[in-house]
Amino acid sequence: MSHISAADRIWVTGHRGLLGSAVVRRLKQTNASILTCDRQTLDVRDVASVARWVGEHRPTQIIHCAGTVGGIWANSQRPVDFFNDNCLMHISVLSAAHRHQVQKLLYVGSSCIYPRECPQPIREEYLLTDSLEPTNAAYALAKISGVMSCQFYREQHGCNFISAMPTNLYGPNDNFDLKTSHVLPALIRRFHEAKLQGDSEVVVWGSGRPRREFMHVDDLADACLFLLQNYDDGRPINVGTGIDLTIAELADLVRYIVYPEVHVRFDSTKPDGTLRKVLDVSRIHELGWSHTIELQRGLRQTYDWFAAHYQAGDIRLGTVTPS
Ligand code: GDP
Repeated sequence: MSHISAADRIWVTGHRGLLGSAVVRRLKQTNASILTCDRQTLDVRDVASVARWVGEHRPTQIIHCAGTVGGIWANSQRPVDFFNDNCLMHISVLSAAHRHQVQKLLYVGSSCIYPRECPQPIREEYLLTDSLEPTNAAYALAKISGVMSCQFYREQHGCNFISAMPTNLYGPNDNFDLKTSHVLPALIRRFHEAKLQGDSEVVVWGSGRPRREFMHVDDLADACLFLLQNYDDGRPINVGTGIDLTIAELADLVRYIVYPEVHVRFDSTKPDGTLRKVLDVSRIHELGWSHTIELQRGLRQTYDWFAAHYQAGDIRLGTVTPS
């Protein structure tokens, strides 16, 4: 148990991304010093540069949010990038944290690293009990090695490295590129553009039957700070809402918020991916943390953010890059 104080210097990797930017917003409510570094100054995949940077800036804690991330299509197109970038990032960050005696490190994993067929809701101990979902195996293997690496550092060197397994996230600063994004930002953008163009139909990938759980990124950022202060266990811990819905229900919710008049058509030539993915969040609930932003409210807020920034032309609409 520890409390974040003015003596803390917390490095947030990937501070321009969806999660990293939310963690920075949350940390601004504390009196800790926040350390960030732009990609032009530091390539988080570069072991020697990261070691040097950590040696110079001396963070006391690290929240490792940087990652090469993307949706079902991007994963299938660029498996080498997803694998190499994410492995190199955790090797650099964890080894530098060990070398420079960082007091605590939080590694952010992902719910998609659990086996494809595991029982639902997914408990932490199902990790590595069966085969992975092939549509994101490269990303999953990289993230699993990051989670395991936290445990290895704990065993071999006594490092206080912990890992969180978040569910699907959404919120401001997401990637809204239609090819590479996850489902929620893609739907927000599609419905919005359909409304602007007065289209009568919006296409949604797959059958609409897969079930997914969604959490607002501000909830995860809050959980990251909670875990940094209250969790010292080597076992990864799930962070989610524990509530799932079908992609068809999700599309309906977005339609209702953005453009209620439009018709939804499912494109069954696109992959469904895993059929259900919902986390068992009883362990984090027992520790005393639970989410506060319900999906409908979070969606409205994210849509308002999106619409304002779409108009201003300053959001990620076209490319996927490491965040
Ligand atoms: P996943 O949770 O790792 O499978 O990743 P995604 O968020 O990319 O996809 C979740 C589900 O939403 C899959 O069944 C997709 O087929 C479905 N989906 C529906 N429309 C879209 C879309 O426009 N983009 C994406 N990425 N997925 C979509």
